[in-house]
Amino acid sequence: MSRPAKVKINLTALRHNFSQVRKLAPDSRILSVIKADAYGHGLTTIARALSESDAFGVACIEEAMELREAGITSPILLLEGPFSQEELTLVAALHLDIVVHTSEQIHMIEQYRGEYSFPVWLKIDTGMHRLGFHPDTVKGIYDRLSSLKHVRDELTLMSHFADAGNSESSITKKQSELFQELTQNLSGKRSIANSAGILNCPDCHFDYVRPGLMLYGISPIPGKTSCELDLQPVMSLQTKIIAVKEVKQGETVGYGAEWQCPESMPIGIVAIGYGDGYPRHAKSGTPVMVNGQLAQLIGKPSMDMITVDLREIPGVKIGDAVELWGEAIPVEEVAEHAGTIAYELISGIQSRLNVIINDED
Ligand SMILES: *Cc1c(COP(=O)(O)O)cnc(C)c1O
Repeated sequence: MSRPAKVKINLTALRHNFSQVRKLAPDSRILSVIKADAYGHGLTTIARALSESDAFGVACIEEAMELREAGITSPILLLEGPFSQEELTLVAALHLDIVVHTSEQIHMIEQYRGEYSFPVWLKIDTGMHRLGFHPDTVKGIYDRLSSLKHVRDELTLMSHFADAGNSESSITKKQSELFQELTQNLSGKRSIANSAGILNCPDCHFDYVRPGLMLYGISPIPGKTSCELDLQPVMSLQTKIIAVKEVKQGETVGYGAEWQCPESMPIGIVAIGYGDGYPRHAKSGTPVMVNGQLAQLIGKPSMDMITVDLREIPGVKIGDAVELWGEAIPVEEVAEHAGTIAYELISGIQSRLNVIINDED
């Protein structure tokens, strides 16, 4: 038996989630965000399965190159734009769209000496304070970019929400009003909504929505489950029991000898660890599905293994199936037990895992 740890990707669920985006934003185009190896789900697999997307968003040119080499011909947007002058030649060769968020990037386009006209997404900082031009400078930047020979005719105007998952937060409303105000007299398509914006802010879908997390069946709204939002988890992290043993009362389990057996008890050793992307900070008590029954993590996860409490589930033996997250246990719940967010867990999936694609279409 080879190492049993594997990640299963359910493309039927992915397509369902995409159709949810369509339903929620019927008048907008969809730019599917597939940066970070499609949030750990496999870049080209996901791009092919989401071929109905109007465009794709990636973080760097290497990802764009992989997509073009796989035969993906849809528009691809570099979400942080070019990192250097040299990259523009490659951007042109690959026919990419670019975000422009600094004067340095405008300068790069001015210095460009090739044949390509860049489709530019001008990024405005409406309150996230990460990337984008200051609102006061937007008109000037728009005019400067529009006048450049190597910029394609119509700019797209974009911004990004800081807190759209929180429907109580006033910043989302401020950001969308500011975006509206800054762009209303400029021609060009507009885009501001990420997954949380698509779900929580129907008035700000504009011309392009940019879903990431929700495509993968995960809730971007704290306190709301994916099930409540009619999203289906795409990734399932699975493995097997590789040892079962009895440990005496008072003995400890795992590194740091932190977890102590309150009584003599059976424990299961599971072939998954932080070397696979399972969170090292998951606390004792984190749910783990063993043979379709709920068990709990005990002790600290190690690189290749974790241990589970088998007191409630008799009869577990070597080779029994384990699910760490997926359909039975939402990854959001595991993230909560590990003091992090689902984004970090899914994008941290390691390439040493076997990948199994489940496609019923
Ligand atoms: C990552 C990203 C998104 C998608 O965000 P989700 O919260 O995963 O939906 C959208 N727009 C930009 C600019 C991004 O970087």
